Amino acid sequence: MGVLAIDASMDTVVQALSDRDDAYPTAYNYVLDNQGIVLIHNDPTLVGTFHENAFQSLPPAEISGGNFNYRASDTHSIAHFSRLDDLGWIVITGVPRADILRPIMVTILSSLGIIIAASLIATWLVSFLLSRNIINPLIHLQKRVQEIAHGRKAPMSSEFLPNNEIGTIAEAIENLTEDALFQKNIELQTKNSLLDSLSKTDQLTGIANRRMTQQVIEQEIDRFNRYKKPFCLFLFDIDHFKAVNDNHGHEVGDQVLMGLVGLVQSVIRRTETFGRWGGEEFILVCPETSLPTAQTIAEKICTAVREYEFAQGLRITLSIGVSEFQSGAALQEILVEVDRKMYLAKQKGRDRVEA
Ligand code: GH3
Ligand code: MG
Ligand code: MG
Repeated sequence: MGVLAIDASMDTVVQALSDRDDAYPTAYNYVLDNQGIVLIHNDPTLVGTFHENAFQSLPPAEISGGNFNYRASDTHSIAHFSRLDDLGWIVITGVPRADILRPIMVTILSSLGIIIAASLIATWLVSFLLSRNIINPLIHLQKRVQEIAHGRKAPMSSEFLPNNEIGTIAEAIENLTEDALFQKNIELQTKNSLLDSLSKTDQLTGIANRRMTQQVIEQEIDRFNRYKKPFCLFLFDIDHFKAVNDNHGHEVGDQVLMGLVGLVQSVIRRTETFGRWGGEEFILVCPETSLPTAQTIAEKICTAVREYEFAQGLRITLSIGVSEFQSGAALQEILVEVDRKMYLAKQKGRDRVEA
């Protein structure tokens, strides 16, 4: 049959066992015999001694190889063993547990560091893109809508908006807001002017109401005080108007009032203001008119009314008081004065002018 023999010097075996793995520089290899005596060790002082810690912890003899743990002084080691039964050797490689965990922890921590750094960069990138493309345009849009809502004019913001869907939506909303507001402004203006004219107009006749008439008189007083322009005030009162209502009904009375307004308006000039003072009393404000001229106008109106045929063939007459505004007088004084004149006309038999 023959025999194949290989011999190697013990030094070579020790040298081979002493070679360290770069990953675990503190790993160490040694060989025990079946009784736990150290046969080979790179620490020569241990050769021949009983390695109790490792030997006691070894799995039973029928297990030819595997891993086991043991503790030598304060060091926990993880070891791998192989039983070479032909030689009666047990080859053991031990590594302190800390040395195995350290590189694993380093790998975990460095991977974690890379992941965190990558996440931070990704988060920054996403937030940059989000804020540039979505959040900033929305904040800008919100400001613009507020500006538009408060009626502040600002340049169109299309140049600030990104060229994406958000930019398009923001621009559309901005335009819609402006259009809607424009529409609302027009509605408001229409309503305001309606309210304005309602607040100045007499509902039945459509001419200036008492409030508006009073404003016109105050303006004339201002003009008089500033430019010394004379002006006259007429107070008309329909004679025995109650009888018209009593005999023909309130509606006919209304028609007579409207007829009177139409008639007087056809006689007076555009610069003159004819307003309803209340009930069947009217005031005519004649700017830049002296008392004699005003008296002539009043006579003309008095005659025109006397000769006019109103609704249902009714005829009415007016008592008219005429006053010229006097320097230094107040609104109330001219009103009292013209009222006094009108009552004088009544007292003198009605259908007349008292200037
Ligand atoms: P006088 O010659 O003294 O002025 O007599 P008068 O009847 O005109 O005086 P009075 O002040 O007693 O009556 C005014 C009447 O005017 C009473 C009221 O019914 C009527 N009148 C006031 N406003 C209106 C109105 O809007 N429509 C109608 N139809 N009548 C009104
Ligand atoms: Mg009256
Ligand atoms: Mg009257």
